[in-house]
Amino acid sequence: MAPIYETDKPILYERSGATAWITLNRPDYGNAQNAQMLYALDDALVRASEDPEIRVIVLKGAGKHFSAGHDIGSPGRDADRPAPRRATLWGDHSTLDGAAKYYVREQEAYLGLCRRWRELPKPTIAAVHGACIAGGLMLAWVCDLIIASRDAVFSDPVLRMGVPGVEYFAHAFEMHPRVAREFLFLGERMSAERAWHLGMVNRVVDREALEAEVEAVAARLAELPAFGLTLAKQAFNAVEDFAGKRSAMDASFHMHHLAHAHNALVNGNAIAGMDARAMATASVRATETRERGGIYG
Ligand code: ZN
Repeated sequence: MAPIYETDKPILYERSGATAWITLNRPDYGNAQNAQMLYALDDALVRASEDPEIRVIVLKGAGKHFSAGHDIGSPGRDADRPAPRRATLWGDHSTLDGAAKYYVREQEAYLGLCRRWRELPKPTIAAVHGACIAGGLMLAWVCDLIIASRDAVFSDPVLRMGVPGVEYFAHAFEMHPRVAREFLFLGERMSAERAWHLGMVNRVVDREALEAEVEAVAARLAELPAFGLTLAKQAFNAVEDFAGKRSAMDASFHMHHLAHAHNALVNGNAIAGMDARAMATASVRATETRERGGIYG
């Protein structure tokens, strides 16, 4: 079925001084990421990257949430449609069958684009409020800094659909592996405060102060020698990759796709028939269980 897009501007782009403010703009669907949005985001990042006046890039969400994850159920879901190839040269996934279709699409649109954005030579800040769920984590994690408002919550509930984590498997690099296991196994929502204690988030501020805080940090980054900052960014990416981030993601990506294929064999559906509502319910239920059990004391 052809997607029905609710907007022709799923990404907003605004320049303020040396900062590009890029806004995920599907607020009616929690900024769920369809291909329309992901490639508009890529266009915006290319624009910011190529503009010599831009020295810092901020990524934020319109409406109540940063991003509820990949689009698994809005009228604008377009996963089966042909899409541009920017990160890979795998060809058009929409012409393929079976596991190849999912694999090629996610190599390009999820793992590939996220890696491309992580390697963007200008510093990036994710300004996170509300929900940052599953694919939402991927967009925050590829940024250099994450500044969150106190109301932000983070979770990866995809194990509920039998899939071992999102396609960009950075969990064990974003937090201690012991905590990352708990985060993924239980699928609970993590508060901004706890994410800050774990070092996954740089700063936590009140919701009303988020934009000003991000603006202040961006202004300080904009004063630094741009090429030096790019090299510092590359150095951190290199450290993570020498520690195995890239190869761990390659390995886990294949497990992720074994899970999609297993689901398709067992249930006839690669995401085990889960939709956005079922995932949200599972996530809330997991968190209620945690609150009753008092696991964090
Ligand atoms: Zn997937």
